[in-house]
Amino acid sequence: MSFSDLGLAEGIVRAVTEQGYTQPTPIQTQAIPAVLNGGDLLAGAQTGTGKTAGFTLPMLHRLSTSGKQHANNTSARAIRALVLTPTRELAAQVEESVRIYGKYLKLNSAVIFGGVGINPQIKLLQHGVDILVATPGRLLDHMQQGTVNLDNIEILVLDEADRMLDMGFIRDIRKVLAALPPKRQNLLFSATFSDEIKALADGLLDSPATIEVARRNSTVEVIEQKIHPVDRDRKHPLLAHLIKSNDWSQVLVFTRTKHGANRLVEQLGKDGISGMAIHGNKSQTARTKALSEFKEGKLQVLVATDIAARGIDIDQLPHVVNYDLPNVPEDYVHRIGRTGRAGATGEAVSLVCVDEHVMLRDIEKLIKRKLPSEVVPGFEPDPNAKPQPIQLRSQGHGGGRRPQQGNARPGGKPGGGQTGRGMPGKPPAGTAAGGRSAAQHRSGGRGR
Ligand code: AMP
Repeated sequence: MSFSDLGLAEGIVRAVTEQGYTQPTPIQTQAIPAVLNGGDLLAGAQTGTGKTAGFTLPMLHRLSTSGKQHANNTSARAIRALVLTPTRELAAQVEESVRIYGKYLKLNSAVIFGGVGINPQIKLLQHGVDILVATPGRLLDHMQQGTVNLDNIEILVLDEADRMLDMGFIRDIRKVLAALPPKRQNLLFSATFSDEIKALADGLLDSPATIEVARRNSTVEVIEQKIHPVDRDRKHPLLAHLIKSNDWSQVLVFTRTKHGANRLVEQLGKDGISGMAIHGNKSQTARTKALSEFKEGKLQVLVATDIAARGIDIDQLPHVVNYDLPNVPEDYVHRIGRTGRAGATGEAVSLVCVDEHVMLRDIEKLIKRKLPSEVVPGFEPDPNAKPQPIQLRSQGHGGGRRPQQGNARPGGKPGGGQTGRGMPGKPPAGTAAGGRSAAQHRSGGRGR
């Protein structure tokens, strides 16, 4: 099966081939014909499966062949496709994909998200845009100011819908939906299917084709996962030890709080390990800089909170470390999905202290496997350590979503293993902008 077998326009196939993709991924093989058909789609796919091209390619095909293309740039364009994403990083990445795959078409695109000035976005919109990629909060700002017109939307995509709901965007999404013309094609992508997602899909989609690749909530197969039990105050020396003794050159580290991310970067700096943090309190410029230096290999460690890391696409990222376990088990799947992408193998290690045994149990329940546990010599945890309550947010920012009380339980025993997800061909280097959307500030998100 090739991209041209799927019936995509020649210009699109050419652009995809230039990216080095030889074969469509499983989600693409299924989603592309379904979207080309013109019907609604409900797709269960995680990041890393090639889902972005899965909706972008047929969307570009439909828009470019339906005869409404503008022959020149002076005629006013109306927005014909709208893609909503939970984060700025993902919005920027999706729009970059639209540009890459649509480079031989006469369609243009723009991305709008919060945390940056609104005026340049207003100018872009005035100039005329065919495909708009947006985070819900900033799109709503434009709607309220009357600077965006959604009357001509033919295709709506909700990307990572589960994450948008997690981040409290449901009301914003409903307001956007209410402003769209009723006759349109709707595509909903989600990694997980909660009752909330099902309710959203029921109200939004009309007899959708349904596709699901990779088992729901499963962790991807090419990633080796293990935990290192360790005392709470020995996590930092253990991480420094792992980085140095294994000679890790590019490590993405997750912390639970922004404060924790900053502190870890400082501590690693003292060990001679170069790192930067990306989280919601960092400026757009700082986040973009950190991400690009990390991608270029100039920065050894990128420390991120969950929301900041969402949508980061780094080819062949070999190591992900959960410095803290996430308090929402699904985030574990999202975090380790950063490694082992597009068929590459990766390793995800979690540093687990006595306070986190309940979280570990929840994660193992979700992924339906016990994570192998390996004590690193010299970092044996104190068997008599008592769990302490976990602080879910940086200090001074109020409580978290699901308070956890430590509840001692022995760490996981060796077991589990790998499951598989292959992706042919070579992906392009991803890029992403950074930042935190206005909506996240308003919705009071999860404060990470
Ligand atoms: P996504 O799931 O959309 O975030 O895509 C994950 C990664 O796979 C990105 O780096 C894409 O560039 C890459 N990719 C997408 N489609 C293909 C394909 N058909 N062959 C190889 N790599 C791909």
